[in-house]
Amino acid sequence: MEQTTVAIVGAGFAGLTTARALRARGIDVLVLESADRAGGRALTEVSAAGTPVDLGGQWIGRDHTRMSALAGEFGMTLFPTHTAGRTLMVDGTRGLETMPGTIAAAGVALLGLELMARTGRGSDRTTVADWVSRVPGRRARRLLDVVLSEALAIDLDQVSVRALTTGIESAGGLRAMLGTAGGAQDSLLSGGAGGLARALAAELGARVHLNRRATAIMRTADRVIVDTPAGPVRADRVVVTAPPPVAAGIRHDPPLPPERAAAERNTVMGVMYKAIAVYDAPFWRERGLSGEIVSLDGPVPAAFDISPPGGPGHVGLLVPGRAARTLDELTPTARRDTVLRALSRHLGDRIMNPLSWHEKSWHLDPHVGGGYSALPKPGHLSALTRAGAATGRVHWAGTETAPRWTGYFEGAVRSGERAAAEVMAALGFSALTAKA
Ligand SMILES: Cc1cc2nc3c(=O)[nH]c(=O)nc-3n(C[C@H](O)[C@H](O)[C@H](O)COP(=O)(O)OP(=O)(O)OC[C@H]3O[C@@H](n4cnc5c(N)ncnc54)[C@H](O)[C@@H]3O)c2cc1C
Repeated sequence: MEQTTVAIVGAGFAGLTTARALRARGIDVLVLESADRAGGRALTEVSAAGTPVDLGGQWIGRDHTRMSALAGEFGMTLFPTHTAGRTLMVDGTRGLETMPGTIAAAGVALLGLELMARTGRGSDRTTVADWVSRVPGRRARRLLDVVLSEALAIDLDQVSVRALTTGIESAGGLRAMLGTAGGAQDSLLSGGAGGLARALAAELGARVHLNRRATAIMRTADRVIVDTPAGPVRADRVVVTAPPPVAAGIRHDPPLPPERAAAERNTVMGVMYKAIAVYDAPFWRERGLSGEIVSLDGPVPAAFDISPPGGPGHVGLLVPGRAARTLDELTPTARRDTVLRALSRHLGDRIMNPLSWHEKSWHLDPHVGGGYSALPKPGHLSALTRAGAATGRVHWAGTETAPRWTGYFEGAVRSGERAAAEVMAALGFSALTAKA
């Protein structure tokens, strides 16, 4: 039977970070990845202009210190997200700047959320949709719907107020969560996040097995056996990094304890369609526009300028929840046309002819099940609280297990570092041995 010291399930940032930290201590690892590529929710394609475009996670926040350090180790630099120019907040043909009442009502509601996050309040039984329905003003409610469902990547009737305020707390506040400069959307990676994941996987070489899904995990007192269609792997320890609702597809013998089983049963993955259109230049800037759009009507609620400095123009857009599922029903050509036509209302007709077009419906990806991350179902806030607590020789990582920056790359990297430290301690590596 194939043997290793630590088997790692999943080659996203959590799995790759775990593997790298253990390898650095001379511990043998084997990474089992079900997809035909490493990276998980990080995926970089190359545009017709030769530039990297991130179809999965892309932004690195100002406080994302571990992810930034990792990028630095691989010679990647960060560049700031473009913000100069006018951001368009529109409902039909009207700009929201002409509706101070709407902005004020939504602002007061967001302030209320921030206060609830700071004081650890908010009901786990009330959905965010119910909470929003009490805000005065139809447009203010729609604005909150757009902003919050973009932030969570889920329809607001699928998530509780407490889950939202917990997420805000984990991100260091609403300003950090929603903000560009200084916030979670501060910078982008030269080479792309998927490029960094590929570099991490390349460093591990033949110790990453692609197209190799873990189907079952058997725990005994002195070993663990991970079953895969290509044969079983025997290990001292295993680290599972698949998001909890996806990890639910792995059978466990003996069965998992209730708290971990609850994490897999009582969470759902976000629903998100992302697309990027690439142009020879960010031409909208000539008209004084920042490229950022918040639209209360139409099929595209939010778009942003993610162009590399001095390079071609990249427009990214994120469509969450039911709106994403509606786009899924169209043919690829009709979908592209629908999306670009919606953008052309704001950025002009040149938007209809990109050099290249990139898109992905993350909720249709069988390997990660959706994005940005798994969220507790209403009434099940505690589902993720103990999701990272080891089950005998099985350790758990992945962004969902991180108390800080849950749902972000930063959470994934920190969870990998934590799981590696846990495994080293279990294998008897003292801090002194580990340094040697
Ligand atoms: C559209 C989108 C936009 C995002 N934007 C941002 C952003 O701007 N900034 C940010 O910080 N974060 C962002 N995120 C979130 C970020 O991408 C994730 O938090 C992060 O990539 C999660 O890493 P992970 O290693 O925890 O999980 P994953 O990347 O999901 O890795 C888990 C891996 O496990 C594999 N796997 C699953 N089941 C099995 C099995 N049974 N056997 C073997 N392998 C298995 C999967 O294929 C996957 O490769 C975004 C995500 C999406 C989808």
